[in-house]
Amino acid sequence: MSAIILLSVLGIIFGLLLGYASVKFKVEGNPMAEKVTELLPHQQCGKCGYPGCAPYAEAIISGEAEINLCTPGRETTMLNIANLLGRAPVPLDAEVVLEKPKALAIIDENRCIGCTLCIQACPVDAILGAAKQMHTVIASECTGCELCLPPCPVDCIEMREIPLATSNWKFPYPLLNTVGRA
Ligand code: SF4
Ligand code: SF4
Repeated sequence: MSAIILLSVLGIIFGLLLGYASVKFKVEGNPMAEKVTELLPHQQCGKCGYPGCAPYAEAIISGEAEINLCTPGRETTMLNIANLLGRAPVPLDAEVVLEKPKALAIIDENRCIGCTLCIQACPVDAILGAAKQMHTVIASECTGCELCLPPCPVDCIEMREIPLATSNWKFPYPLLNTVGRA
């Protein structure tokens, strides 16, 4: 009984200490950067040139990066950020405009050697597998970022284009792509 009481007391003490530490040592993020991060698609794909959405948001707020670099977010994200920051829309960066059609990663399970390198590379945990076991991609989770392709030692991952359907069709904004280019 005394052991249970002792453990409970220790648990409460450590809990309080952790709570205090989380308040005392909290790293204050930039609130505007946090708001911009919320507007980004959270795919962590790195296509903007930054190692994830939060670092890109920080770079936008610090003035280091333009608001038109988010490939998966395209016009919608650029306009939302421009709105939030009270800035004028910016023509999409060429890399973004020339973005390839949406695609999903497909693993050839017969050739997969179960090295787990793709799991480590996937920023959204869209790959299932275990060491020396077959790996497979959860289609609903895959963002098509292609970060799993380079590390695969046997090149058994391919990107397969998602057939166009009403569910994934987007109204193109050709006008916006020309803003400031006339
Ligand atoms: S393309 Fe590969 S790394 Fe990117 S989300 Fe899909 S499975 Fe993950
Ligand atoms: S990186 Fe390639 S071989 Fe390794 S587990 Fe992934 S799909 Fe299989």
